[in-house]
Amino acid sequence: EYKGMSKAKIIEIRKQICNPMTMKVTYYKKPVFIHQGYMQYLWDVDGNRYLDLFAGVATVSVGHCHPKVTLAAEKQLRKLWHTTHIYAYPTLHEYCEKLVSYLPDPLKVVFLTNSGTEANDLAMLIARLYTGSFDIITLRGSYHGGGSMTIGLTSNAAYKYPVPSSLGCTNTMCPDVFRGPWGGSHCRDSPVQTTRECSCPPGQCVANEQYIGQLKETLATSVPARIAAFFAEPIQGVGGAVQYPKNYLKEAYKLIRERGGLCIADEVQTGFARTGSHFWGFQGHDVIPDIVTMAKGIGNGFPMGAVVTTSEIAACFVKGLHFNTFGGSPLACAVASAVLDTIVEDGSQKNSLHVGTYLMTGLAKLRDKYEIVGDVRGKGLQIGVEMVKDKTSKDPLPAEDMAEIFEDVKDMGVLIGKGGVYGQIFRIKPPMCITKEDADFFLAVFDKAVYNYMERR
Ligand code: PMP
Repeated sequence: EYKGMSKAKIIEIRKQICNPMTMKVTYYKKPVFIHQGYMQYLWDVDGNRYLDLFAGVATVSVGHCHPKVTLAAEKQLRKLWHTTHIYAYPTLHEYCEKLVSYLPDPLKVVFLTNSGTEANDLAMLIARLYTGSFDIITLRGSYHGGGSMTIGLTSNAAYKYPVPSSLGCTNTMCPDVFRGPWGGSHCRDSPVQTTRECSCPPGQCVANEQYIGQLKETLATSVPARIAAFFAEPIQGVGGAVQYPKNYLKEAYKLIRERGGLCIADEVQTGFARTGSHFWGFQGHDVIPDIVTMAKGIGNGFPMGAVVTTSEIAACFVKGLHFNTFGGSPLACAVASAVLDTIVEDGSQKNSLHVGTYLMTGLAKLRDKYEIVGDVRGKGLQIGVEMVKDKTSKDPLPAEDMAEIFEDVKDMGVLIGKGGVYGQIFRIKPPMCITKEDADFFLAVFDKAVYNYMERR
């Protein structure tokens, strides 16, 4: 039972006081007034239940208010809340040791932060200090943060402001085989691959060669001979579950390293078992990054982030101090430690793989059924559905039309996200505890919402 403010008052405060532009007050025409959550479900102030397939942008990893994580937080709340680094409290050390046990050698040194933006900001600093170079390359359509440094990494006009934030940051072409100039029918969906499945003979994907060619051109035209870093999400999140051709990251890493740069995997959305077959998204590309950044799912909704790198790279801080008051606080570490245990105990990774594959197979049928469902892609529970006016032009479905379907899906009890640089992609990234029955419910709801939209035309 909710006994707080009226909906009108909440909207008034959001418009005037509370970050007025966030989600353009607030994501839906008729906003959802969320009041409570449990596992894959949310309840609004009127007691309506929603299946949450967005999880606050892949933030809730094991489930809203997961009993095990909640208990760990409650226990720690009664014991100690404090800053991170001044004293040697055990929880921090236990957590860092546990976290690196999930990472391959030589990624064994951890810096804890409070968010993904902070993690990427720190990774930028580390790369620049370690290499002595300044320039950083990212992929178009990426989202790496909204801070004044990380806005330069992010490549999406919606988050850009006329301030000199992009100094030293160059965005290169995203190897998007659906919307980009190369790719198409030989790069079909495949829910079992982190990369876009490709029917070309091994090592001979024409699309991949062209996109790698674009990176080579960026390196030849837009940056100095030595660079600091290359950031990429293993599967783009805000960009709309964009998957790269097989070998793209592998070849890109080689080119970047030849120019002295560090390769940074932004696992803020793809990490912590979300892609199903692997614990980390980069593992599906058969690469080992120099730095991995994490946030969101790390704390199942508790604010936290991390940068993991090698001891050699981390030594760049030897001549200075790096301090973060709350990054890795006792409370954050207790929560994040319980999240790691829960992922293992609940079999979240396996569930991501099975339910994700099932969901994508069902969505692919809807893609074949409807002219406006242009593309279905992703891996595990990091899924995108790209909507188009028609499959020939691939023109993005206009924002008003997207909003209609989006609102209808919500009114039928399912929350999903929107993304892509034209706002044309529905995003699905639920808590990893969802079931096949939940997937069936969503598939029926989405089918009906698209059908309703077509009927109204
Ligand atoms: N990286 C990625 C891939 C993200 O999706 C986000 C947030 N959408 C960030 C970084 C920034 O994280 P935060 O909002 O916690 O600062």
